[in-house]
Amino acid sequence: MAQLIWFRSDLRIADHLPLTLARQSGEPVYGVFVVTPAQWQQHNVGLPKRDFWARSLIALRAKLASKGIQLAVLSADTFAQVPSVLMAFAKDIGCSRILWHREYGWDERQRDSAVCEASRRAGIATEVCEDRCLVMPESVLTGGGTPYKVFSAFKRNWLAQLADQWRTPAPAIRKSGEVVEQLPSQWQSEIAGFYRDGEDPKQVQALATLWPVGEAEASRRLQHFLSEHVRAYGEARDFPARPGTSQLSPYLSIGSISARQCAAGWLAAAEGDWHDPQLQVWLNELAWRDFYHYVMWHFPKVSRNQPFVDKTRAVAWRHAPDDFDAWCRGDTGIPLVDAAMRQLLATGWMHNRLRMVAAMFLTKNLLIDWRKGEAFFMERLVDADFAANNGGWQWSASTGTDAAPYFRVFNPVSQSQRFDPEGAFIRQWVPELAHLTNKQIHMPTADQRGDYSAPLVDLKFSRQRAIEAFASLS
Ligand code: FAD
Repeated sequence: MAQLIWFRSDLRIADHLPLTLARQSGEPVYGVFVVTPAQWQQHNVGLPKRDFWARSLIALRAKLASKGIQLAVLSADTFAQVPSVLMAFAKDIGCSRILWHREYGWDERQRDSAVCEASRRAGIATEVCEDRCLVMPESVLTGGGTPYKVFSAFKRNWLAQLADQWRTPAPAIRKSGEVVEQLPSQWQSEIAGFYRDGEDPKQVQALATLWPVGEAEASRRLQHFLSEHVRAYGEARDFPARPGTSQLSPYLSIGSISARQCAAGWLAAAEGDWHDPQLQVWLNELAWRDFYHYVMWHFPKVSRNQPFVDKTRAVAWRHAPDDFDAWCRGDTGIPLVDAAMRQLLATGWMHNRLRMVAAMFLTKNLLIDWRKGEAFFMERLVDADFAANNGGWQWSASTGTDAAPYFRVFNPVSQSQRFDPEGAFIRQWVPELAHLTNKQIHMPTADQRGDYSAPLVDLKFSRQRAIEAFASLS
């Protein structure tokens, strides 16, 4: 008999409980990943993320092979076909147990229940482990047993439980036990399914240089951040021109590194003090990450294209395709917003402060439905993650849990003056404005713009229009 690890967004061999458990069985271990092109299309998973996922999978396959584990890459159009595809493979290798890490999205939950059911019918055991969240969503509840809707209250309870139940990450598995040298020949691995018809990995070649894959790279980034930046993070994290954040999000999104490994590194830097005031700010980000998975788990409506706050379903979003296209291209005439969007298009990543600025500009100043921006980010981000992206968009659009109050609309010019005071970030991404002075660059006058576009909207008027659109909801 054999053990089968079903890899999904956990592409690593360290801190991987399913691998550790499978190895303990003494049976040969196989890995499997199921590519689901049509499902990913429905979920708007774009080329940057799929390419990063594919490259990471190739790195994982080599690593697993060096430990005597073969990884098969199978294809099933949508999640609905995953159970039959998995079962065919499981039966062929004589599988006694399938192990995987739990996922929280609505469709993922349906898929996993169907796999459990199919396994039960086939007489195959299943084992589900936890790694996405540092604290399991069902264990963080109010005194009344209901889920929190406010981050600060969630965070207090979350931190108490994290500290209380802390366990250090498991080391990487070694080459031991029964080694599998080759997959049965009919199961040749196929990564072509990561790419849509007409797509070519060469289209995102630049991203491969910016985002090298693998566990070693993720650990290197973590160590570098912890030794060079974590102490100054609280003060530096809002300035997009500074290298103040970890840039670990792509690696966390596909699990080349686990949140537990990040928290363990943080705890060592904090010398074991969960409440270290200076370092707390970064742990807070890991808490936000858990919080948005938590929201997705407890409130599945957010996975079904619905706002968290029901009454905001009635917001009269504008149908303005030309404005939307200008925002997507980074051509709104608002320098910081355009710099942010161009950073996204060129690198597959955007600084957190700018994600908020760009999202608020789209949903408030342009009054365009947050779901359009959410989908565009999913298509373009190398770190695309449904929970964080949906949470970030709903926060910015004032439709989500613990969202920005609708009357607090970021002014992109003040944000620019405050967080890019010398215009260094704007100069990098909007070079046509590079010659302007530090004062002019945040909002040039018509005669200073040259070829650069005029603003799409008047900021004062559009802010008021957004406030009225929300105020009229009963
Ligand atoms: P750091 O500042 O070093 O933070 C460490 C880690 O904590 C991040 O890698 C990330 O995993 C997590 N994290 C940090 N901030 C948040 C947050 N606000 N919410 C949830 N997790 C957080 N993050 C994604 O990973 N994928 C997305 O698709 C995504 N879309 C977003 C869309 C909008 C509109 C907004 C406002 C935020 C979005 N975020 C998303 C959250 C955040 O912007 C990124 O996680 C962060 O910029 C990644 O950079 P970093 O790795 O340097 O983060």
